[in-house]
Amino acid sequence: MGLKLMFSMSNSARTLSVSLRIAIVQLNPQIGQVKQNIERAWELVHRLRESISKDKAPDLVLFPEFALTGYNFHSREHILPYTSVRNEGPSINLAKEVSRLFKCYTVIGYPERDDQDVEPVLYNSAAVTDPTGQQVFNYRKSFLYYTDDDWGCQENPLGFQSFPLHFKNRARNVSEDSSELEDVTLRTGFGICMDLSPYKFEAPFYDFEFATYNIDQRNELIICPMAWLHSASVTKNSEPATAASAKLEAIQEAIKKEGIPACGSQGNYQFNLNNSDVTPRIGRESVSSESEYNELDKPDMSNVNYWILRFMPFLALKQRSSWLARSLEPLVADKGKRKSYMGASLTSQWEFRNRNAIVLMGNRCGIEDANTVFAGSSGIYKFNGKFADVETDIDSLNKSVELLGNLGKGLEGVLLRDVTFEVTR
Ligand code: GLN
Repeated sequence: MGLKLMFSMSNSARTLSVSLRIAIVQLNPQIGQVKQNIERAWELVHRLRESISKDKAPDLVLFPEFALTGYNFHSREHILPYTSVRNEGPSINLAKEVSRLFKCYTVIGYPERDDQDVEPVLYNSAAVTDPTGQQVFNYRKSFLYYTDDDWGCQENPLGFQSFPLHFKNRARNVSEDSSELEDVTLRTGFGICMDLSPYKFEAPFYDFEFATYNIDQRNELIICPMAWLHSASVTKNSEPATAASAKLEAIQEAIKKEGIPACGSQGNYQFNLNNSDVTPRIGRESVSSESEYNELDKPDMSNVNYWILRFMPFLALKQRSSWLARSLEPLVADKGKRKSYMGASLTSQWEFRNRNAIVLMGNRCGIEDANTVFAGSSGIYKFNGKFADVETDIDSLNKSVELLGNLGKGLEGVLLRDVTFEVTR
C-alpha cells in the first residue's frame, strides 16, 4: 500500500485496463449495386442492435475497404461515379448514422475524390466518425495494390498516419486497484489492406513497414479496413496464363459446389457475437497453401497466419535474444525512417515487450469479375507482449497473439467482441 502510494505520488506510469466492445461488419459489396449493398449493411447493423441490450452497444464499428461500392474498378471513368468528396456521400453518411445509433466510432473505406485541383485527385480512403456522428479523421491508403493503380489512385502524400481515439469511461486504474471508470485516449494507427504488405510487393519482406511504424508510434489500437484476396484469385502479373485458366475453372467449380451465385454469398449472414468463440490456432505447416474456397463459414487460416506474420515486430520471438544491437545499427539508424527493426531497437531487444495492442481487420468477402475472390475472415487480435523467452513461432501458434475471433471466409456477417488490454499513462 505504502509502495503504491509512493508510486502514484512520484508521478510514475499508471497502468490502465481498457475494455472496449468492437464490432466488425463483413460485407460482399458489388459494383453498380450501391443501394443493395447499403441495404444489407443496415440489415446487419439492425440485427446486431436487436441481439444486444442497449447498454452493450459497441464502442467502435469497422467496415471494410470500399465497403459500399465494390472494389475491382478498372479505370478512372469506371470509378468516378462512385467517388465522394470527404464528408459527403453514402459511405460517410452510413458511418455518421451508425455512430449516432450506437454512440460509437465508425470506420469505413470509400473511394475519395479531392476536388481542390482542376483535375480531381482520387484516393482509397477510410472515414472515421466519432460518437456524435462527426467525421473526425480521413485516412488515405499509402501503399497501393495493382487494382488501385488501374483507376489512377494516388498514394497518401502523408504516408502512414495515426489519430487519437477518445473513449469515455472505458478505463480502470489497475495500479491503484481502482474500480472507478475513467476516460482514455488511445494511440490509434490506421492501415488499408495493402498497407500491410511490402511496398509495391518490392520492398524487403522483413522491413515490415506498417507494423514497424505502429511499434515506433507506440500505437495501442490498429484499425484496418481491407479487401484482401483469397489465394484462389487470379491476380495480375502473378502467374502464367495456364495456371490462371486452371484457377478460373477452380473458382467456377467452387461456386457450383457451394451453391452460391457467381458473386459469392450475400444475405446468408453469420453472426459471431460470443466472446468465448475464439479462433483455434492452426499453424502454417498444417494449412495447405493451395487453400480451396470452401467452408465459407470458417476463416481462411492461410491468410490469418500471413497477417500475423506481417505483424512480426509485435510477436514474441526467442530468436531476438541472439540479435546484436551492433548488427541492427545500420538498419535502425536508416535516415530516421524507423526506430526499430523486426521489433528490436538499439536499446531494447523487443520494443513491444510488456505492451499490449489490439488489431482489427475488417475484410470484405465475395467474388468480383469471376477472378477475384476475397478472403473475408475479418478478425480481432490482441498482441499481449508476453512470452518473449519462449516463443519461436511466426504464425497463429505464437501465444503472444490472441485470436479473439474471426468471421468465415465467404459469408457476410458481424463479429462482436469485448476486448480488454492494458496501456500505461
Ligand atoms: N496485399 C493485398 C492482397 O494481396 C492487397 C489487396 C488490397 O490492397 N485491397 O490481397
